Amino acid sequence: MSIREEYNKRVNPSISLEFFPPKTESGKNNLLERIRRMSVMDPSFMTVTWGAGGTTASKTINLATEIAKTYNDIPVCMHLTCTNMEPDIIDNALEECRKAGIKNILALRGDPPIDMDDALDEHDEDAMDEDGNMLSDDTNKFVYAADLVRYIKGKYGNEFCVGVAGYPEGHFDVSGEYDQNPVRDLVYLKQKIDAGADFVITQLFYDVDKFVAFEQMFRDQISMDIPLFPGLMPINSYLLFNRAAKLSHASIPQKILDRFPLEIQYDDDAVKSIGVEILIEIIEEIFKRTQGRIKCFHFYTLNLEKAIAQIVSQSPTLSHILEESDDIGNDIFTQADG
Ligand code: FAD
Repeated sequence: MSIREEYNKRVNPSISLEFFPPKTESGKNNLLERIRRMSVMDPSFMTVTWGAGGTTASKTINLATEIAKTYNDIPVCMHLTCTNMEPDIIDNALEECRKAGIKNILALRGDPPIDMDDALDEHDEDAMDEDGNMLSDDTNKFVYAADLVRYIKGKYGNEFCVGVAGYPEGHFDVSGEYDQNPVRDLVYLKQKIDAGADFVITQLFYDVDKFVAFEQMFRDQISMDIPLFPGLMPINSYLLFNRAAKLSHASIPQKILDRFPLEIQYDDDAVKSIGVEILIEIIEEIFKRTQGRIKCFHFYTLNLEKAIAQIVSQSPTLSHILEESDDIGNDIFTQADG
């Protein structure tokens, strides 16, 4: 099923879950067991990440296929990057998804080639028509995610529901050519939507003001209807929290940092429990301030379950999910993450 269909069908607030493919077979089996427990939270969809450059291609396809096979009624979405990768890997991945009944692709640029200037020159001069559209048969000229969206929609029409990434604080440019700026990025996010994208998942963030401002710009300037899923990462340890925010170039408001005084920074249980409170506050504030326009919250799970189960059960906006569940015997709260 497509994410758009599922999203339109749902009335009450819900969650969605991102997983990454484990390296080993036993890791994958553990994760599938964990997903079984997490399925009690009735996710609107589940996504599987893709290693930049296609490094996890077979593991990503394999995990996404297994999830799709097991959960017929939950849409599965495979992430797919397009730069720094042989085009036949993209074609193969899309065909495998088709065979497995996976109807959703998150179309991403991924990490750029080291010499971005050359790629940009080629893109500008050879690979685009005079309106700036990628030439459809030029599959080895993917430079931006919009090129991949256009490619998938051109080749498969609406057989795939295609999502793209959004950045509430602006995308961080590794070349240092420009500063993080969500207003600058909005033009390019619009290009991805104009190319046919059906939904947006955001980069993780902890600053609700920045997300709310981004959502408002998106609604005013791009679309009132396209689903926008805020990306949330639970706080499982103080070290990982800071590292993930740094890697994603997400700012942490001082009022959140103040909740972790030095004496508890190494107490993982205390950090987790404050983290659950913070995430619930973020969800409640987003739901209220966007007047219900945001009704599905996307979790970067890091393949962990406990904090998410606690957030879902304690959040006034989301607690109906477990209350309505008939899977009472589920052991989601008793399993140790790790
Ligand atoms: P784009 O949308 O192409 O944008 C990249 C940059 O180029 C932006 O700064 C944009 O403003 C700019 N830009 C776009 N078009 C133009 C243009 N025409 N002219 C000039 N500038 C332009 N990475 C992985 O490797 N695997 C994953 O599974 C993965 N999953 C992700 C999931 C989410 C929800 C998010 C938010 C990110 C994910 N990423 C993943 C990271 C992503 O690949 C990187 O952030 C990457 O650097 C940018 O990808 P993009 O699709 O946003 O690129």
